[in-house]
Amino acid sequence: MTIRSDILVAGAGAAGLTTAIALAGAGFSVTVAGGLDTRRNGRTVALFEASLRLYRALGLWERLEPLSMPLRRIRLVDDTGSMFSLPPVELEAAEIGLPAFGANIENAALVEALAVIARETPGVTLMEGMLGDYATSDDGVEGRLSTGEMLTAALLVGADGRGSQVRTYANVSPREWRYKQTAITALLRHEKPHRATSTEFHTRSGPCTLVPMRPEDGAADGLRHRSSLVWLMSPEEAERRMALTDDDLVAEIEEQVHGLHGRMGLVGPRGAFPMSGLTCDTLVAERIALVADAGHFFPPIGAQGLNLGLRDVAQLVESIESYGQLDAGDPKALAHYNKRRHGDVATRTLSVDLMNRSLLIHALPVDFMRSAGLAAMASIGPLRRALMREGVAPLGRLPGLMREPVRRPA
Ligand SMILES: Cc1cc2nc3c(=O)[nH]c(=O)nc-3n(C[C@H](O)[C@H](O)[C@H](O)COP(=O)(O)OP(=O)(O)OC[C@H]3O[C@@H](n4cnc5c(N)ncnc54)[C@H](O)[C@@H]3O)c2cc1C
Repeated sequence: MTIRSDILVAGAGAAGLTTAIALAGAGFSVTVAGGLDTRRNGRTVALFEASLRLYRALGLWERLEPLSMPLRRIRLVDDTGSMFSLPPVELEAAEIGLPAFGANIENAALVEALAVIARETPGVTLMEGMLGDYATSDDGVEGRLSTGEMLTAALLVGADGRGSQVRTYANVSPREWRYKQTAITALLRHEKPHRATSTEFHTRSGPCTLVPMRPEDGAADGLRHRSSLVWLMSPEEAERRMALTDDDLVAEIEEQVHGLHGRMGLVGPRGAFPMSGLTCDTLVAERIALVADAGHFFPPIGAQGLNLGLRDVAQLVESIESYGQLDAGDPKALAHYNKRRHGDVATRTLSVDLMNRSLLIHALPVDFMRSAGLAAMASIGPLRRALMREGVAPLGRLPGLMREPVRRPA
C-alpha cells in the first residue's frame, strides 16, 4: 500500500510530533512515522519561554502544562573548588518580566501527550514503525515503513534523532565529537521544597543539576517534593554509580548537592547517556530538511537541546508557509529554512561546548575567565538580563510562531 501526503516526517519524538502537528495546522497533510519511545529513564526536558510560546500558538500548552512544573529561578553554584570560586548566583524570571523561565516536563510524558494530540489532529497520520529505503525523485521522496507501507511526499523531514538515517541518506556529512562524560539521569523525591528553582552545581566533571518537578500528593514518608537530576561525570564514575543500589546512589547524590533538598529517594529507573556533540554544514538537501537532534546536538548544559530543536521546527513551518504553499519541498523554502537556522545553531553549539570544556580544563586562566563571567553576570544588571533573555527566548529573529502575538506570514 502507498500513502501519499504533502510532508513525511521520520521520527516520532518530541521534535517530529511537534513538526507534524504544526505543519498540519498550517494546512499541509502530514504523515509522521516512528517508534514511540516512552521509556521511563529519569529524563526530563526544561522548555523555555520561546518553546512554550510555540506550544501556546499551536493550542497545545493547556494539554501539556498540567504535566509540567514552572521554573521561576535558576541558581548557579561554582562547585569546582577553584581559587576564584564565587558565591552562588541566583537568577529570577521576574527580573525579565516573566512569571517563569519555562517549565520542566518528563520527556516520556511529553512524547506520550504529543502522540495523543497528533492522533486527534486533522491532517496528521501517525504510523508506528521505522522508516528506511529512502528514494528521491524530481517531485518527491519516498520511504518504506518497517510494516511494509510505502510513504511518499513532496518533502521528507528528518526528525529521527542523533543517529539520523535521513541525515545519512541526504548525504549531509556531520562533524561529530565525543566528551569523556556520561550524564546520569533520575527522578528524585525529596524532603525540602525546591521553590521552583533549578540548581546547577558546576563541578570538575561537568554540571550536576536538580530541576524542579510537580510535587507528589500523599507521599507517606514525607518525600513529597520532586526534582529531576542530570549529573555529568566521567564514564568510569557513571559505570560505577549505575551499578550502585538505589540507597547508595541516593547517598552520593545527597552528598554532591550538599543536602540541598534534605532526604531523597529515587522514583523509577535511572538513565545513562554518553556525551557527544554534532553539527552539520547544512540542514537541507534536495526535498529533505533536518530538524532538532537529527541536525545538531550537544551536552545538556543550560537545557538548550530541544529548545533549539523546536526553533528549527517553528522556522521550518514558517519557511514552508512562505515559499512552499504549492510544493512543500520547494528549494526556496529549504534554502530559507537553512539560512535562518544557521547562526542560532552555530552559536548555541559553540557556547555550550565552551561552557562544558571550561569546567573540564583545570587551568588557572580558564578558572579565572569562568569566574569573571559569572561575577559579571551577578553584578551587571543589563548584562544579566540580556543573558537571561538570550537563554529563554533568544534575541534576533525568532520564527513567527514563537513571537507574541503570533505572526503567520501574510
Ligand atoms: C540527559 C539529557 C537531558 C536533556 N535535557 C534537556 C533539557 O532540559 N532541555 C532541552 O531543551 N533539551 C534537553 N535535552 C536534549 C533533548 O532531550 C533532545 O534535544 C530532544 O529529545 C531531541 O528530540 P528529537 O525528537 O530530535 O530526538 P529523539 O528524542 O531522539 O527522537 C527521535 C525519534 O526518532 C525515532 N527514529 C529513529 N530512527 C528512525 C527511523 N529510521 N524511522 C522512524 N523513526 C526513527 C526514534 O525512535 C525516536 O523516537 C537533554 C538531553 C539529554 C540526553
